[in-house]
Amino acid sequence: MAEYDVVVIGAGHNGLVNANYLAKSGLKVICVEKNQNIGGGCSTEEVTLPGFKHNLHSTFHGWLPMGPVYKDLNLENYVNYVYPPANHVSLFDNNRSLVVYRSMDLVCKQIEQFSKKDAVTYRRIFKSYKEFIDTVFVPWFFSPPVNQSDLIATLEKSPEGMELYQWMMSTPMNIYNELFESDELKNHLMARVLILGMPHDYYGSGLIAIFAIIKVINPICVGGSRNLAEGLARLLKEQGGEVINNTPVEKIIVKDGAAVGVKTAGGKEIMAKKAVVSNIEPKQTMLGMVGPDKLDEWYVSKVNAFKPDAHAIFGVHYALNDAPKYTHAEKNPDVNMGFSQDIFGNKIEDFTDFFADVRRGIPPRKPAFQCCAPTVHDPTQAPPGKHTAFIWQPVPYNLRGKGPEGWADIAEEYADYLQSIWQEYAPNISGSNILGRFVHDPLKAMEYNNNFIGGGFNAGDMSPDQMGNLRPIVNWAQYRTPIKNLYMCGCSNHPGGSVSGSPGYCAAGIIHDDLGIKRWWKGLV
Ligand SMILES: Cc1cc2nc3c(=O)[nH]c(=O)nc-3n(C[C@H](O)[C@H](O)[C@H](O)COP(=O)(O)OP(=O)(O)OC[C@H]3O[C@@H](n4cnc5c(N)ncnc54)[C@H](O)[C@@H]3O)c2cc1C
Repeated sequence: MAEYDVVVIGAGHNGLVNANYLAKSGLKVICVEKNQNIGGGCSTEEVTLPGFKHNLHSTFHGWLPMGPVYKDLNLENYVNYVYPPANHVSLFDNNRSLVVYRSMDLVCKQIEQFSKKDAVTYRRIFKSYKEFIDTVFVPWFFSPPVNQSDLIATLEKSPEGMELYQWMMSTPMNIYNELFESDELKNHLMARVLILGMPHDYYGSGLIAIFAIIKVINPICVGGSRNLAEGLARLLKEQGGEVINNTPVEKIIVKDGAAVGVKTAGGKEIMAKKAVVSNIEPKQTMLGMVGPDKLDEWYVSKVNAFKPDAHAIFGVHYALNDAPKYTHAEKNPDVNMGFSQDIFGNKIEDFTDFFADVRRGIPPRKPAFQCCAPTVHDPTQAPPGKHTAFIWQPVPYNLRGKGPEGWADIAEEYADYLQSIWQEYAPNISGSNILGRFVHDPLKAMEYNNNFIGGGFNAGDMSPDQMGNLRPIVNWAQYRTPIKNLYMCGCSNHPGGSVSGSPGYCAAGIIHDDLGIKRWWKGLV
């Protein structure tokens, strides 16, 4: 029987980050992954043609370099990133576009096309709140959740903080309506908020609206997103740890109220002397692998009440002969050089209309998707001279009257529909330029990675009642569980979804404290 200090279930990037922090303290760690390939939401698969590397989930890793993980683990030695010259590009009718460059002056010039007043306000918000985002929000994001009252107390110290507090209680849409007059800018920003995983109308999630103005970087992992996971796995092995693939964990072995190991689907037991850490969301971890019989009724009811994401993602991946060429580039050639091109309509109503369809369980009838061709910035993701591209359309997971299974019947047809709209903006997405296509509907996404409940970004809705010290379970938001020595480290925990490494990092700190081991890293607060 194999025995380790710590068994980590799942080799998503958070599981691997967690394993690395523990291994660096001298613990003997193994990471056990269900799939053939590690990475979870950092996946790269050749799903169309050989040599075309498609990132089925994350593509931009903007959070990772903001936090401590990248530096602490010296990840620059294990993974490379490229930074596109322009970030998001919003495409509107009549070949009008808004390109978010990396320079604030250039961004403001772009906004001036739609409203001079909005450009002034945009710059003011950036200047007024950048320091707050850097000194309060980023450390909050990369630390275990604090009491909500502590965060509010920080905001209450200044008039600017009080204004932020008011916005924090509000919705992204209310804030953009208050600050800006041009529908184009509002649409552009709301698309960004949605792409960060939040709907436009959640009260209590307003800070993300300010964040979307201030933090706009989109590094792309060279060779594909899975290279981040592969780099973390390499580092873990150098530190004496192990990673095994193709090994689904079925049970967490509990003895006298404490986790002591795991049992795999193949019947193998892997024992853990000090801790078991799960990278998987709470329903599967606590009800599936532990079992409700080992938990009290209150906790079981709370886990059952944990909500999946508000929307799923419908991805269509392409192998292309040539990169998408947008008609909008006739007016501004930089349109083709953006990290992504967002087609979310022209008016604020377009945005709310499409989301209303999502909530009704209908695949949106109006276009509202993000397009991206990673190979424009990282040619290594396709054979020489060729390209990969994808579109992401937010959709309902449960189709009205049919449930998620309904996607099997309509996925290809819906992909054709989206493609026809994309062609209006990029006419070369057609004919012989398309070498291959793969439709990653929400059902397939869940089959690939069962952690993404509801087919979304975050393995659990990012509504305010599931954020901060309420995520994933009220009174159990510190990565611990009611089972002694069992922890959770995935994005169902604070601060939520995205490739940040934060949940894995924060959980590692808590585990060090519980085991009485001094942390080898400094931390942000
Ligand atoms: C379509 C899509 C696009 C996204 N785009 C971005 C983006 O561009 N930028 C960004 O920052 N974020 C993005 N995200 C979000 C991001 O990918 C996730 O939030 C993040 O990858 C979650 O990491 P994790 O380590 O917490 O979990 P995961 O990556 O989900 O890792 C969980 C791992 O556990 C494994 N596992 C599951 N069950 C078992 C079991 N029983 N036994 C063993 N192993 C198991 C899974 O196979 C998986 O490898 C996107 C998400 C989606 C769905």
